[in-house]
Amino acid sequence: MPDIVVVGAGIVGAASAYRLAEKGLKVLILEKEATYAQGSTGKSAAGVRVQFSEPLNVLLSYRSILEYREIPEAAYRPIGYLFLVPEAQEEALRVQKALGVPVERLSLEEAKTKVPFREEGLAYATFGPMDGVIDPHGATAFYLREARRLGAEVRFSEPLLRAERREGVWRVETPKGRYEAPYLLLCTGAWTGEVGRTLGLEIPVQPVRRMVFATAPTPFPHAFPLTVDLGTGFYFRSEGSRLLFGRSNPEEPPGFREGMDWRWLGPTLEAGLARFPFLEGLFLDRKASWWGYYEVTPDHNPILGFVEEGLLVAAGFSGHGVQQAAMVGRLMAEEVAFGKAQSLDLTPFRLRRFWEGKPLRERGIV
Ligand SMILES: Cc1cc2nc3c(=O)[nH]c(=O)nc-3n(C[C@H](O)[C@H](O)[C@H](O)COP(=O)(O)OP(=O)(O)OC[C@H]3O[C@@H](n4cnc5c(N)ncnc54)[C@H](O)[C@@H]3O)c2cc1C
Repeated sequence: MPDIVVVGAGIVGAASAYRLAEKGLKVLILEKEATYAQGSTGKSAAGVRVQFSEPLNVLLSYRSILEYREIPEAAYRPIGYLFLVPEAQEEALRVQKALGVPVERLSLEEAKTKVPFREEGLAYATFGPMDGVIDPHGATAFYLREARRLGAEVRFSEPLLRAERREGVWRVETPKGRYEAPYLLLCTGAWTGEVGRTLGLEIPVQPVRRMVFATAPTPFPHAFPLTVDLGTGFYFRSEGSRLLFGRSNPEEPPGFREGMDWRWLGPTLEAGLARFPFLEGLFLDRKASWWGYYEVTPDHNPILGFVEEGLLVAAGFSGHGVQQAAMVGRLMAEEVAFGKAQSLDLTPFRLRRFWEGKPLRERGIV
């Protein structure tokens, strides 16, 4: 009998499985797809950054980046994140400085040495030299390989259909079998609300479709950091000879709506060209563009840790789970091994904040 069933083989489930196995637990991973990283993990823009306003978000990302830096498969590239700030938001900078993470305040002139932009309506910029991108697929593969090396079993094409707790164990049912384990950890990303309902639980995580647009190779060389116009949420970065860009549609309704929404290209470009006129004239590569689901909670912060006896959730990262997964894996393992996470206080991100009317306001959501 496994000690714990981890549901979901995205980057969060994989990192958690590895750290749980490292603590000596017998781990079984169930994944509904035929292989790993087929959910949001394989669809992300792959950005990692310490530039958040909530201390717990800053630390989850910072410590995860330190870990990714040491994993060759994670292919960490510190290309930096440049935030163009429309109004004085000194509070986020103060939080980052107090935590000792690398973020620089730049004048608009200094920022223009990295990216050309129109400065109307901007106050200043911030740059995170440690921020950058990783390979989420490679990192997930690494964690799963290490988990298996330590004895974890991974079962693909095996969705959790039902689970109930009886006599101190979770009885888990899939189309292929029944399993029992004292602990159950849901790392089911955008599907977590749905999975919660099969367990009779209300877990407020909803899928919201997001798009990443890709240009054709550009006629000029570039090495742009991941640049975010905070006023509109438009972002872009270099990827080889192409640019990737996007902008979250605040009107996108929650739900499993599939495919590219090409109607959103217009409003995305409108915001982008107004700030970055040099993008005018680049060609879009429709086939290289893609979509996926953000796994969104009411306050756009994750739900982490025990939610009831023997049941843990690590989901709802609302678009920033790749950059936090490494540390979340460690925290989930501590939560099980010691009854409570040790290296960071998870109180702000526990599920009960929603029932207690204490949602958090993270200002650095893109
Ligand atoms: C367009 C886009 C851009 C993004 N950009 C970034 C970014 O730049 N930086 C960043 O940090 N994050 C980004 N994200 C968010 C990031 O991708 C997610 O936060 C992260 O991948 C969440 O990982 P996960 O393992 O929790 O979820 P997933 O990767 O979705 O994994 C969940 C897994 O659970 C499985 N599952 C679901 N239900 C069941 C079931 N019943 N039984 C068995 N298995 C099940 C799914 O098949 C899936 O494999 C982006 C997301 C999108 C869509």
